Amino acid sequence: MLRLYNTLGRKKQVFKPLKNKKVGLYTCGPTVYWYAHIGNLRTYIFNDVLKRVLKYNSYQVKHIMNITDVGHLTSDADTGDDKLELRAKKEKKTAWQIAQFYTKAFQKDIKALNIKYPDKWVKATDTIKEQIDLIKILEKKGYTYQIEDGIYFDTSRIKDYAKLTGSKKRKLKAGARIKIVKGKKNITDFALWKFSPKNKKRQMEWKSPWGIGFPGWHTECVVMGIKYLGIPFDIHTGGIDLIPTHHTNEIAQAQASYNKDLAKFWLHGEHFILKQGKMAKSEGNIILIKDLIKKQISPLAFRYLSLQTHYRSKLTFSWESLKSAQNALDNLYEKSSKLKTQNSKPQLKTKKYKKEFLNYINDDLNTPKALALMWKLIKENKASYKLLLEFDKIFGLGLDKVKKIKIPVKIEKLAQEREKYRKEKNWSKADQIRKQIEKLGFEIKDTP
Ligand code: AMP
Ligand code: ZN
Repeated sequence: MLRLYNTLGRKKQVFKPLKNKKVGLYTCGPTVYWYAHIGNLRTYIFNDVLKRVLKYNSYQVKHIMNITDVGHLTSDADTGDDKLELRAKKEKKTAWQIAQFYTKAFQKDIKALNIKYPDKWVKATDTIKEQIDLIKILEKKGYTYQIEDGIYFDTSRIKDYAKLTGSKKRKLKAGARIKIVKGKKNITDFALWKFSPKNKKRQMEWKSPWGIGFPGWHTECVVMGIKYLGIPFDIHTGGIDLIPTHHTNEIAQAQASYNKDLAKFWLHGEHFILKQGKMAKSEGNIILIKDLIKKQISPLAFRYLSLQTHYRSKLTFSWESLKSAQNALDNLYEKSSKLKTQNSKPQLKTKKYKKEFLNYINDDLNTPKALALMWKLIKENKASYKLLLEFDKIFGLGLDKVKKIKIPVKIEKLAQEREKYRKEKNWSKADQIRKQIEKLGFEIKDTP
C-alpha cells in the first residue's frame, strides 16, 4: 500500500490511480532562462524517486514535464519583465536561443543525476493556441476581465480559492514588495494574457482575440496537463514555492473551465536552502552542477545527499555534507563491487528485507530510512549484490555500473599454487604463499 502526503488535504493518503494501474504524472518544469541550481534539481530528484516508487509498485507511469519558455515574470504579481526576454538582452541572444540553450543544459544536468526523462517534454510556446482556447472558455464563463495591461482571472469568483494553501485567504509572503497592477480587482487575480507593450516589440508574442501579447505563466500547465493526461489526472508535483500562486491558480482555472479538480494528488518538495536563507536564481546565490564537479563532488553524490533527507524536510547546504555524501557513495561503490565479485550468497533470505524496504519507500517515499536499512544489511553481512541492485531501482545511484574487482593473473596463479600445497597438506608452503599474496595487496579467505 503506497501512501503519499497530499498537499490538498494536508495528510498522508493511500494512493490509488484513477484508472487501474495507469498513473498520469505532471511535473512543473524549469523556467529556462538560466541553469537550474541544485535547489531546483533537488525537486527533480524527489520527483524521480516518486516515479521510480510508482513503477516499483507496478504502476505504468505517463510523465509529462513542461518547459517554461515564456510568460514567467520576475515578480509573481504579474509585474516586471519576462525572465527570458531579460536574459536575452543580457546575453545578446534571442529569447528563443536562450530557451534552447538552457533547456539542453537542464536535460544534461538531470541525466547526470540519473533522473529519468519524462515521456514528453512540452514547451509553453508550443501550446499557445490551446492556451488561448482555455482563456476563451474562461471568458465565456465570465471569469475574466480586461484591463490596460491584459486579460485577468477574477479569483473572487472561486469559492475555495485558497484550498491548496489551507488558509482562509491567500497569504502573501511577508515582506514581499508587491507592485499591484493598475485595475486589478483582487490582489490574488492573475494575468491570463498580457498585452505586448505599446511602444516596443517583444521577441515572443502572438495574436489573440484580445490583442497581440503572450500568455501568463499559470495557464500553460493546465493546458498541457489536460491535453496529455486528461482531467482530472493522478499526480501533480513541484516545489513548495508553487503552492500559493502557480498551483493555486492552476486549480482555479481547471475549476472555472471544467468544474473539475485538475489533479487528485498534489505533492510538493521542500526547499534546498543556504544557511543564510533561500537559494534562488533571482537572488544570485546559486550553486550549479558544474560548481560541484569543480570541487570533485559527483552529481550522484548530490543525489545521495538528497536521498538522505526526506523530501518534505528542508535541506541545508554545506560543502562538508556534500563531501561526506561523496565518501559514503564511494564506500557504497566499493562494497557493491566486492559483493559483485563474490557472486551470490545462496543461503541469504532477502524476502524479509525487500518487504521492509518497500514499507519505507511506500511510506511517503522515506528514502532516509531505506538508505539506513541498506547500510545496516551491508554492515551485518546480509546484503548481496542482487539485493543492492533491487534497492538501487529506487535510489538510482548507478550501482548497476560497478565493476567486479579484477584479480591480476599473477595473484590467481599464486592462489592456485597455494591450493595445490594445501591439498598436499604442505601447510608451511601454503602459508608462505598466502603471505606473498598479502604483500601484493590481496587477501585470501578460505571458504568451506
Ligand atoms: P523554476 O525553474 O524557477 O520554475 O523552478 C523549477 C522547480 O524548482 C520548481 O518546482 C520550484 O518549485 C523548484 N525550486 C525553486 N527553488 C528551489 C529550492 N531552493 N529548493 C528546491 N526546489 C526549488
Ligand atoms: Zn507549472
